[in-house]
Amino acid sequence: MSTYSFEMYPPRSAAAELSLYGTIDRLVETGPEFISVTYGASGSTRESSLGVLRHLLTTNVTPMAHLTCVGWTYEDATSVIREFLSVGLTSFLAVRGDPPAGTAEGTDFLGDLKSAGELVQLIHRVQNERAPYSQVDVPGFPSAKRISRGEQVTIAVAAFPNGHPRSRSVQQDLDTLLAKEAAGANLALTQLFFHAEEYLNFVVLAREAGVTMRILPGIMPVVSPARVRRMIELTEEKMPETLYARLVAAETPERQYAVGIAHATELASELLAGGAPGLHLYTHNKHEAVIDVLDAVGIRSTPTKEHA
Ligand code: FAD
Repeated sequence: MSTYSFEMYPPRSAAAELSLYGTIDRLVETGPEFISVTYGASGSTRESSLGVLRHLLTTNVTPMAHLTCVGWTYEDATSVIREFLSVGLTSFLAVRGDPPAGTAEGTDFLGDLKSAGELVQLIHRVQNERAPYSQVDVPGFPSAKRISRGEQVTIAVAAFPNGHPRSRSVQQDLDTLLAKEAAGANLALTQLFFHAEEYLNFVVLAREAGVTMRILPGIMPVVSPARVRRMIELTEEKMPETLYARLVAAETPERQYAVGIAHATELASELLAGGAPGLHLYTHNKHEAVIDVLDAVGIRSTPTKEHA
């Protein structure tokens, strides 16, 4: 069965925080597998990310905490992981994070952990230290308990269907993803992309390379030319020329919205038809567009409600 999940970022102001909780309510109502919350690589969003995650813990949807490791000492990283585990979080997205502009590999201190794979290992290690074992019932012996491994956490990692901007080859991206799985990752979420074959071809190569974990395609309904330009700037992905031209030609915000939803719906449908196990939807902290795509694709778990 297809699943879906959402990604949001922490609010940047008190006003944004208020409207974010309304957005979360609407997203939670749709019954996603999880909602992930990004983390600023500089550590600047530690409190605000944790605030949103704590709020999500009060809902019936699993929160997934993004964690970065660039610039952290080993002690910093361990302390942040302990703090996140201690509030009850059991699902993480481990990413390296980008070094601040102007810093250089080799000369500046970019952290004790050199890759997302090392962060994956550290999260598992800290969790195993906190909960080395648990007691489980023995079937047929009501008062007996057996010692088992402690509660394990879910650790997702990033995957790049079109290659990481700083990667030298497709093979490097595949090796990196395989190393993350070997380190203990059990789910991959992709960078956004605009054509289904980019994801589908990447999954074939990843499986051939030995990656077995689920790889959820990350898609964002982009509903204005400005949003496309901004996402390309942030992700360094290739400009989707046809979509961009259609958005520009649509002229009014309403028509541009329709173009963006139609594109994301077609992309999502092709991905699911091609075997994708679900969709990871980048919300840009708005619920309307992602819910419209879910409804158009027809994979929403809960009955459709008016969400305008
Ligand atoms: P790694 O797995 O360690 O590396 C990935 C690839 O990049 C490898 O091919 C590696 O060799 C290459 N690489 C990485 N760094 C360098 C370098 N300095 N020089 C040369 N090659 C390099 N960022 C945030 O700050 N916060 C977030 O919450 C966040 N969430 C994300 C969620 C998703 C789904 C994705 C796809 C990305 C997210 N990012 C986030 C961005 C991410 O931190 C950057 O893409 C980062 O550059 C790579 O992170 P990684 O975990 O993939 O790194």
